[in-house]
Amino acid sequence: MMSSFKTTCCYCGVGCGIVVHRDRQGKLSLEGDKDHPVNRGMLCSKGMNLHYTVTDTSDRLLHPEMRYHRNAPRMRVSWDQALDRTAAVFTSIIRKYGPDAVAFYASGQCLTEEYYVVNKLIKGFIGSNNIDTNSRLCMSSAVAAYKMALGEDTVPGTYDDIELADCIFVAGANPAWCHPILWRRIEAAKAANPSLRIIVSDPRVTQSCASADLHLQLNPGTDIVLHHAIGRLLIEQGHTDKNFIHQHTEGFARYRDAVMQRSITEAAIVCGIPEQQLYEAAAIIGASKGFMTMWTMGLNQSAVGVSKNLSLINLHLITGKIGKPGNGPFSLTGQPNAMGGRETGGLANLLPGHRLLNDPKHREEVQAFWGGTTISEKPGLTATDMFAALQNGSLKAIWIMGSNPLVSLPDARAMEAALQKASFVVVQEISSKPETLKYADVILPAAAWAEKEGTMTNAERRISYLSKITDAPGEALPDSEIICRFAQKMGYKGFDYSHAGEIYDEHCRLTAGTRIDISGLSYKILQERRSIQWPYRDGQGTARLFTDHRFYTPHQKAVIHTVNDENTSEAPCEDFPLILTTGRIRDQWHTMSKTGKVSKLKQHIVSSFLEIHPDDAEARHLRQDDLAEVSSARGQVRVKVKISRDIKPGVVFMPMHWGKILQNDLNRANNLTNNLTDPISRQPDLKFAAVEVRKY
Ligand code: SF4
Repeated sequence: MMSSFKTTCCYCGVGCGIVVHRDRQGKLSLEGDKDHPVNRGMLCSKGMNLHYTVTDTSDRLLHPEMRYHRNAPRMRVSWDQALDRTAAVFTSIIRKYGPDAVAFYASGQCLTEEYYVVNKLIKGFIGSNNIDTNSRLCMSSAVAAYKMALGEDTVPGTYDDIELADCIFVAGANPAWCHPILWRRIEAAKAANPSLRIIVSDPRVTQSCASADLHLQLNPGTDIVLHHAIGRLLIEQGHTDKNFIHQHTEGFARYRDAVMQRSITEAAIVCGIPEQQLYEAAAIIGASKGFMTMWTMGLNQSAVGVSKNLSLINLHLITGKIGKPGNGPFSLTGQPNAMGGRETGGLANLLPGHRLLNDPKHREEVQAFWGGTTISEKPGLTATDMFAALQNGSLKAIWIMGSNPLVSLPDARAMEAALQKASFVVVQEISSKPETLKYADVILPAAAWAEKEGTMTNAERRISYLSKITDAPGEALPDSEIICRFAQKMGYKGFDYSHAGEIYDEHCRLTAGTRIDISGLSYKILQERRSIQWPYRDGQGTARLFTDHRFYTPHQKAVIHTVNDENTSEAPCEDFPLILTTGRIRDQWHTMSKTGKVSKLKQHIVSSFLEIHPDDAEARHLRQDDLAEVSSARGQVRVKVKISRDIKPGVVFMPMHWGKILQNDLNRANNLTNNLTDPISRQPDLKFAAVEVRKY
């Protein structure tokens, strides 16, 4: 007898529906869910092989472990021993140094229920706001820009806009590899509607460029200049919507004056693209009835990430191409549940239901609901600041949940030094591979995808239910259960949930009356209807926001922010004249703790590499497959050279996935990156580091 379960892919923010089959022997197989509105039965290579990450338990952590000093071997202990000791150490640190001496670093791969309880624990009961997640590395610049421009952290549109658009501008993203099923929909839309025009801006010729009508191969860090030049041409050529600007926006006059400061010729020189391409881009956008923009890390992971986002959103606000079918800015979420995490308030500056930590009324509401301690008004530490605080000794203990910061954070060697200095490190993980385990005092084995139930929200605000399909190996527990057991060891009330559904219901109640209201959306409805886009009102989800053009700002007008077009990233210099940019490859995910163990996914690209233009390679006497040493002011890597005309001269590219240091072969891209962050979003500048390359 075969059992079938409906669930959702746990890799990228596309949020594809999956049907998993379990046979009588417990063997799992899967297929795309033909009834799911996102993927309509399609899955990419990662999704198709997702079950192997569960059935292969060879790398899994099976039992709690701990040690009393870092050089001692890890000992197997019971859950009670591990959590009693953790609670004792946390209590002692909090008594001695205060609640801000402890922190949680979580993950955009956590389920919403997991985010909810850990956020409640630290903000509502420990009394600190020191919780941040790897979503800080992913979407925080887009979040800040949405709030500034539209008044709320929200994606206005829906995937169904793809089929209604006649221009899609993909900025700083390679969805053909990183959001493959979404890209299949775009390709299908273009096949069905040949007048759909696709524009891609990227310093590299990526797989997404194959479908593009226009590739703007701009210099890294010049996105704002590009967007401003397009904005200027849209104004000059009469493509703006004067009524929309007048009735529904603020700030246009200042923006117009700013974009007129730089000529189109000058902008083309700064961007390193032919001037004619700027005119072509503006003509395509100006003529479109349905204009979508899509972007990811090329804009977000930047020292000016918020300004890059705002400059792109401005193109919608001056043309009125927002809140209408086929139109709108659409940030592509990198992680499966970065959005769900924000719904629970799971970042250092947020509270549940998109409430703001700096709003006393919001703090009071949440505090009254939770019934715990006073919620501190002091913002918590963000991702990179958390590690800096470990380094300077102001933060004593860190609890890392489902993330591998020693591969994913910038300037990874500095992050290692910070963890080395920490008084107490808890690592809550599914895999025995992450580098963080070397620094852990307590290791807590967690259940993986398919071994627990819960919900996630994809990039179009769509909440999906994930079934529990199989038992976790050994003594591994769902992340939410681990956190609740710990909270009870700390003596806190309100963590005695009998199952994940109770946590979800509590989270939903806290959204009542907010702009993300899902207070009437139960597990039962999600199981029956598969997925719903928030807000959920009168028994219906909401596909598009701002259809009445009333925005969530105080005056209900969208704000056209005028931003400086200067890039403040690390400037190349004589010692480090090249710009390193990093990114994903098609078949790997993040730091490879899941995809790295699926042999089919290793066949596509087997090892890290450095992509370099032939002119830069020749100047350094490098040939194809030579081993090169890449160095920056922070560190070095040694990887094979891949010579390609797909990258601009002066720019090199490395994938971000690899992190294991094998003898002399250092292949962790984040040895090289720097810890500059955007001043508003605090998102690191992972796409821009000054480096030099030499033959090794
Ligand atoms: Fe999973 Fe993303 Fe691939 Fe869909 S596109 S199957 S969500 S990795």
